[in-house]
Amino acid sequence: MIHNLKQEIEAVLPEVIAIRRDIHKHPETGFREFRTSGIIKDYLKDLNLDSIQECAGTGVIATLNDGKPGRRAMILADIDALPMEEKSGEPFAAEIKTAGHCCGHDAHAAIQLGIAKILAAHRDEIPGSVVFLFQPNEEDAGAQIMIDDGAVEKAGRPDAIFGSHNSPAIRLGQFGVVPGPSMASSYYYKILIRGKGGHGGRPHTAVNPVDASAFVLIAIKNMLTAEQNALNPTVITNCMIHGGEKEITIPETCEMQGSIRCLHTEHEKVHARFREVVAAACAINGCSCEVELKCGNSLLYNDPQITELCAKTIEEAFGEGCIVTEDVKAMGGDDYAEFLPYMPGCYFWYGTADDTGEWPGLHNPAYRFNEKAIAPFMEAQIRCVLKYLEQK
Ligand SMILES: [Zn+2]
Ligand SMILES: [Zn+2]
Repeated sequence: MIHNLKQEIEAVLPEVIAIRRDIHKHPETGFREFRTSGIIKDYLKDLNLDSIQECAGTGVIATLNDGKPGRRAMILADIDALPMEEKSGEPFAAEIKTAGHCCGHDAHAAIQLGIAKILAAHRDEIPGSVVFLFQPNEEDAGAQIMIDDGAVEKAGRPDAIFGSHNSPAIRLGQFGVVPGPSMASSYYYKILIRGKGGHGGRPHTAVNPVDASAFVLIAIKNMLTAEQNALNPTVITNCMIHGGEKEITIPETCEMQGSIRCLHTEHEKVHARFREVVAAACAINGCSCEVELKCGNSLLYNDPQITELCAKTIEEAFGEGCIVTEDVKAMGGDDYAEFLPYMPGCYFWYGTADDTGEWPGLHNPAYRFNEKAIAPFMEAQIRCVLKYLEQK
């Protein structure tokens, strides 16, 4: 359909790199991506698209071939930076210390603009419609805010959604993808344990919520090992305990925070049992408790059919061995998953690591994005979307 795809990608590459470096130099964190969003909208305006809509403030949804019969595919790119100082050493490193593109979303955004340009130039040949969604605040559940602001309707209820992420853990030219559960659901918990304050020398006259927190920790670990099916990965990690102000004073309360991650669909059962176990561990210490659970992101479940189509398409283009399935599943998450109750999809990783340097991991201050990954990824993403649209 696009006969000279590689050449067309080569032609747009300098523009993509220039935009990505510009966004990189001016990082903006979640829902403050005003400049980034402006660059995206300005670029899209010149592409002869059918609509460009704002969503959730800095989000952008642009449609190509709106109303054309056939399938409707959506591609998602995130655009936010992290609230951290980058130490990449790049000449176009961030000008500020309070934000940095240490997850590569600058590249994600710029690449999607390049993809939009190429597809828009072939709009008449494309057998369906394509929606380009630019999502703010991936690092803190921005997708749900877009959905709450009508993203699915604004996008014209697509039939499928395609997502992706760069990976310094995968070799350049390789792609990581698995069908089914691919990234865990992640819920953040906050437990407020209530006891009764008192003198440290007279613990029998008080109820110590700090003691109870130790029981809660053990009870959670025991529940994990004794009750959870080890073949359905579940991780509960407590990362914060706050209680007490002075060494001789028993506090009234103690707070615990952490996350529950499930790489399977039974997360509700795990959450219910978690609440029971925490309450029981508090109760035997004479404490009461309140447990809050907040969704960080849902389970990322790759649709088996679309995933097979993507893997085959990528393999046809890049040869045998380019698809990796080992170490692809992760207990981390991506809020791309929030769209999956509305439409099936496939999310894959593209490798950025080669022998030309060190490629520190995502969210590492020294993280750098390998620009050599842009062309192969663009080709893979375009081919997958076109192949999907061709299958009526
Ligand atoms: Zn990230
Ligand atoms: Zn990311």
